[in-house]
Amino acid sequence: MSRCPHCQQDGISFFKKVLIGPNTIINCTKCQQKLTISKLANWAAIPFLLGIAGSFFTHELILKTLMMSSGLIISGLIKGFAVPLVKIGETPGTDRGS
Ligand SMILES: [Zn+2]
Repeated sequence: MSRCPHCQQDGISFFKKVLIGPNTIINCTKCQQKLTISKLANWAAIPFLLGIAGSFFTHELILKTLMMSSGLIISGLIKGFAVPLVKIGETPGTDRGS
């Protein structure tokens, strides 16, 4: 679970956080306030893009699949663990308490 920037409770599931983008608005399951993921989430897509790019350099289907899936997993983990959730309209990085 991920901590909500409004109520500081674990109101957002890990998978929901991984699936949303900086333009997606979701509601906290605890306080129902609107929030989204930081625009830093765009950077978390880089391993996935590298995996796709890397897959162009091989003709082995298993290697292509491995590169793309590992890139996708790494991107998902970065997004789920490292990218903060933010309140709607707030710039990221301004509320770094505790
Ligand atoms: Zn909340």
